[in-house]
Amino acid sequence: TVALKDVTKVFADGTIAVDSVNLDVNDGEFMVLLGPSGCGKSTVLRMVAGLEEPSSGAILLDGELANDLPPRDRRIAMVFQDFALYPHMTVGDNIAFPLRLSGVEPAPRGERVNDVASALGIGDVLARKPSQLSGGQRQRVAMGRAIVRRPGLFLMDEPLSNLDSGLRAELRAEISGLVRELGVSTIYVTHDQAEALTMADRVAIMRKGVLQDVGTPTQVYGRPATLYVAAFLGSPR
Ligand code: ATP
Ligand code: MG
Repeated sequence: TVALKDVTKVFADGTIAVDSVNLDVNDGEFMVLLGPSGCGKSTVLRMVAGLEEPSSGAILLDGELANDLPPRDRRIAMVFQDFALYPHMTVGDNIAFPLRLSGVEPAPRGERVNDVASALGIGDVLARKPSQLSGGQRQRVAMGRAIVRRPGLFLMDEPLSNLDSGLRAELRAEISGLVRELGVSTIYVTHDQAEALTMADRVAIMRKGVLQDVGTPTQVYGRPATLYVAAFLGSPR
């Protein structure tokens, strides 16, 4: 589980990017963090990942205070919008890389890479270089590399925003299916309402650093907590 307790982030220039956010993510839950550009989504994710420290408040991972736990000790995997693959390595070596770093032997490494790659439908391109793949295939490789170490928590920051709409829709279903199959808790950031409402177990909606509403897609859409949420989601009134 992840718990944010009154988490605030004020940057050095005085920008209040995140303002007293309280949020729980349950085991195996697919939580979508939704809101317009600049509302603080990535800052929340970066604090959970350990790439930024909260100015105040607490981040608990499995009940333990994690505010200054280094990223590598958090059992977290992240996929960003501009996922960078290693261009000189094959697909297989890209996916295997985190396992190599943590000292997993070649045989179990190969087995694990094959499992992940076939789950993602890229089992037949393991020998290629990233430049020889389509955008959607590259995105799958980035996901494979992120989950290969069986993270306890999966963080994704607009992972589909560079893809065309057909592929987005396809990968939406694929990502939420895969993550549910793995049973990994996930925080998925997007500014796309449809994406949020179709993928999430629960949606958390932010505006200007403040959490406005949290609930299932049916709850937030049908009974929005604020006028802002209603307008943002286009709820019937
Ligand atoms: P987007 O959808 O455009 O990615 P976001 O919701 O992810 O937006 P953040 O990147 O979390 O937004 O930024 C929240 C606010 O904090 C913005 O006003 C941004 O300009 C500001 N901000 C982010 N990083 C810094 C920084 N290092 N120093 C100062 N302000 C920052
Ligand atoms: Mg962002």
